Amino acid sequence: MDLKATRLRISLAGALQGVGFRPFVHNLAVPMGLAGWVRNTASGALIEVEGTQPALDDFRRRLRAELPPAAMILAEEFSWLAPSGVAGFEIQASEPSELKTAVILPDLATCPACLREMRTPGERRFGYAFTNCTRCGPRYTIVEAIPYDRPNTTMARFELCEACRAEYTDPRDRRFHAQPIACPMCGPRLSVSIESAAAVLRGGGILALKGIGGYQLLCDAGDEPAVLRLRERKLREWKPFAVMAPSVEQLRRHARVSDEEAALLESAAAPIVLLEAMDGTGLAPAVRRGSPWLGAMLPYSPLHHLLMEAFPHPVVCTSGNLSDEPIAIANGEAQERLGAVADGFLDHDRPVARPCDDSVARITAGRTTLLRRARGYAPMPVWTGRAMPKVLALGGHLKSTVALAVGRQVVVSQHIGDLDSPESRDAFVRTIEDLCRLYEFSPDVVACDLHPDYFSTVHASSFGCQVRHVQHHHAHAASCIAENGLEGAVLAVTWDGTGLGTDGTIWGGEIFIVEGWQFERVAHLRPFLLPGGDAAMKDCSRPASGILHEIGRPSPHLTILERRLNCVETTSVGRLFDALAYLGGFTDRNHFEGEAGLLMEAAAMRESAGRAVPMPEGDWRELAAEFIDRPSARMLHDSLAGWIVETTLETRVKQVALSGGCFQNALLVSLVVDALERRGIRVATHQRVPANDGGISLGQAVLAALDRYSAV
Ligand code: ZN
Ligand code: ZN
Ligand code: FE
Repeated sequence: MDLKATRLRISLAGALQGVGFRPFVHNLAVPMGLAGWVRNTASGALIEVEGTQPALDDFRRRLRAELPPAAMILAEEFSWLAPSGVAGFEIQASEPSELKTAVILPDLATCPACLREMRTPGERRFGYAFTNCTRCGPRYTIVEAIPYDRPNTTMARFELCEACRAEYTDPRDRRFHAQPIACPMCGPRLSVSIESAAAVLRGGGILALKGIGGYQLLCDAGDEPAVLRLRERKLREWKPFAVMAPSVEQLRRHARVSDEEAALLESAAAPIVLLEAMDGTGLAPAVRRGSPWLGAMLPYSPLHHLLMEAFPHPVVCTSGNLSDEPIAIANGEAQERLGAVADGFLDHDRPVARPCDDSVARITAGRTTLLRRARGYAPMPVWTGRAMPKVLALGGHLKSTVALAVGRQVVVSQHIGDLDSPESRDAFVRTIEDLCRLYEFSPDVVACDLHPDYFSTVHASSFGCQVRHVQHHHAHAASCIAENGLEGAVLAVTWDGTGLGTDGTIWGGEIFIVEGWQFERVAHLRPFLLPGGDAAMKDCSRPASGILHEIGRPSPHLTILERRLNCVETTSVGRLFDALAYLGGFTDRNHFEGEAGLLMEAAAMRESAGRAVPMPEGDWRELAAEFIDRPSARMLHDSLAGWIVETTLETRVKQVALSGGCFQNALLVSLVVDALERRGIRVATHQRVPANDGGISLGQAVLAALDRYSAV
């Protein structure tokens, strides 16, 4: 055995800043008798460590095996150097760098150790609303520049007291280099007492609370008049509200919660989780408005925990904005915009660097899937493993996100929202500016959708660099392929509501074979006419008319269909769902995008497996005719899943990717996954970015980064 000293240099890329990584390395090296140093770099961390060969091998192994829970290593490179003979192990200051690719961590829910401290009388942070450590607390919503060090966060204005500084500089402490560290002596303060905020809720009032990623509006979820008042003042008539409840046990009184769902609720990301709601449980009917699903979350910041202790009941917890406007983050702005909505404010003086909504997730076929990706997940990058040019991808129009290709990873922004209103368009532009500034990024290539009228497409030409237009469903496919790291030919099933196809019609029921930048449309839903253009997205009688017309039955929009006035041709599976929801008497209107689909899914889950009607070449006419005579939501799901299975077997491709808003439907995904995986075919689904248009920017970025890619 070689016991001569040698020196190992380890260069790491990943999420390693602000998670207790450097103290972890220090505390690993010192007891092993190793000398050297660790420091943060632009892409992660750099370690040089000196000792005997066996000790260094052991160090490398333990570095991965014992990594702190919030840390993530994306890539590792190492080399051997001549020993320098230094003694001791030190944590060095961060080095400034040119290309800033350091992974910024998402905001993490309060950890058990901090919670225990906050609840222990006599502790320094007893009852303190800004308690955090290296394992928990705000990250993305306080960082103003990288590397992630306190002077680069919104905590820079709070000077550490002696006690906090001692914790911050003690390598054995849980708060060693915890950048947002604070205490009642030196840290942020609340504008009013928790007790007076709880009194607003008890009195049936609406409370505006400054949370992690901006303001939220809260009211007692058991108080129907209060919830109705919130709907009226927030101009949100229909879309279900999410609730926050003190514990999983409390949630179980209102919804079914599986073990997987409980784990997701209690995870560090702490998203809103879509649960199967139970009726007549004492929650105000205005919370769900008849939706079969209850969006629920647990308290995830010390402030939420304290409030829930003072008011231990489920509360409606929705973003602090009017209808579809962006969320308010600054105190003055909130007073102005939410003054007429809220009966009381629970403010504080820790600035929020950027808005970040609550994420929405659900368990689908045993996997976590995101419907809205924001707090707790953004801006964790997707690792592509290959160097890319600097691409800025602008996404689609609905559920907008943007993405930056930075080195070998793609950073996907938090959810921005639909780009209909001037306010949300401003937020979109601000998010791009914010991310480009944060990552000191200026694009070489801008990627956008093929649709010429999207605000994002129009905006693409303002950067003065090369613009690549990516077909909407090709981007969906590439997004799912990238996040699952698939190589080679993939059968990509991309089903959603709307996306402009390369033939000028509206696609949304496509099946491609995708390999790199090449995509071949191997199948699609049989097209039908959609009367009334954009109005057809809300009014389900319009796609229903198109369906009736195709199968030769009388339809309410006959004249315009026959003359093809203001009609578009579509292959959209989303619109097929809408049409059948109307014809089966499930609903006649989408109050919000995808509502009919959610209702059909819930109805189908209550039915047992029925007959799947064959859909050769995507022909739905027999299915529609049978459905009209005997409506069955389950039959629709079984038939669509059957079509995917048939097409997969015909094409003999061994891996399938499911993308597009229709695959937020957990039943549809489960049916496809079960049927194909039984036959040895891998089915990739979205887990880290949404299947809906929130995932489009990722797909655009990876496609536009391929040098052989050209506009279709
Ligand atoms: Zn903690
Ligand atoms: Zn302090
Ligand atoms: Fe889409």
